Amino acid sequence: MDSDRFVPVVVIGAGQAGLAVAYYLRRFELVAGQDFVVLDRGPDAGGAWQHRWQSLRLGSAHRVHDLPGMAELGLSFDTAERDVPAREVVGDYYRRYEQHFELGVERPVTVRSVANRGADLLVQTDRGAIETRFVVNATGTWGAPFIPHYPGTPGFAGRHLHTADFVSAEEFRDKNVIVVGGGTSAIGFMLELEGIASGLTWVARRPIDWLDGEQLDVEDATAAVAQQDKAARAGQALPSIVSGTGVPKTRRIAAGINRGLLVAKPMFARLEADGARWADGSFAPADAIIWATGFRPELRHLAPLKLREQAGGVTVASGASWTDPRIFLAGYGPQASTIGASRAGRTIARQIMALL
Ligand code: FAD
Repeated sequence: MDSDRFVPVVVIGAGQAGLAVAYYLRRFELVAGQDFVVLDRGPDAGGAWQHRWQSLRLGSAHRVHDLPGMAELGLSFDTAERDVPAREVVGDYYRRYEQHFELGVERPVTVRSVANRGADLLVQTDRGAIETRFVVNATGTWGAPFIPHYPGTPGFAGRHLHTADFVSAEEFRDKNVIVVGGGTSAIGFMLELEGIASGLTWVARRPIDWLDGEQLDVEDATAAVAQQDKAARAGQALPSIVSGTGVPKTRRIAAGINRGLLVAKPMFARLEADGARWADGSFAPADAIIWATGFRPELRHLAPLKLREQAGGVTVASGASWTDPRIFLAGYGPQASTIGASRAGRTIARQIMALL
């Protein structure tokens, strides 16, 4: 990559959000590589999906929406193979999409910082710098796993791991495992570990809000999206999506509830060297704790721009930073689903075209 070249628009991240923005920029006749560039640190196509565990399948609880224009390639996630790992299907579809629309993604390129250079911006990467007028940050959350702190955490002698570290249930054969979290990842881990782990305990901070439907279309989760939008507009830290959506009861999940597997205990009061202790004195032994406790937006590289508010978030409306009109955040807050990310493309690309 050239050092210190000028490209009017830099999109950081080639996941659902970054690709959707790039697609509309192309449709508005910007030339990939000259008028805009997409940088991604991943080794391959697929956004965060390429890093997800082998056994994860598409549509296991949530619907994965198509990227804009994907039908032109004869592809749809709705009809994609359900027996193939999600990471392979998504990687394959994104790769074909990038090639078909000539989105010119440059990878692996890691963006280290975005800072002011006069009226413009300087994007520093591990492969040189780019001067630009607009940055679309579409970096998702996978790189910023969140683990809450509980008393006794440092003294726990077993293994802590987060959703982002999960490789396969086999690692936990004959081990005592505690799964923490109230979302579909925690539930998926419980189902996979059943019969493999010798002891399995599920804990969640609040009672699970089970939904009757088989699949959650995040688009229908209007209350959760509205909550995210409200927080983003107020510059507040974003609430957990699951707290606003509830969890759909697929047939597999309903069967797990009926046989007593998917019954969450309340959070433990503290961790001890060899397990967790509840306020009533009860104890569960643990060799490992899987924290399926979510992610935070990955925005460290934007720190020089000082976008973060005292309320803990970045003020964003319709994908645009309120503080700095040169910065767009695609896939942030209300856009943090595959449908939201796809829609972000049009909204953000239009605003950029108006400003260019
Ligand atoms: P990502 O897919 O994370 O893409 C961000 C990209 O930015 C990555 O490719 C990364 O390499 C790149 N990047 C990050 N930082 C940098 C940097 N500094 N420099 C260069 N590149 C960088 N949503 C649904 O709608 N349906 C589902 O079924 C669903 N299942 C999910 C399952 C799991 C386990 C998780 C964690 C989330 C799931 N989601 C689902 C949410 C889903 O991930 C998002 O909706 C969507 O895929 C996110 O797209 P994105 O483009 O915002 O982020």
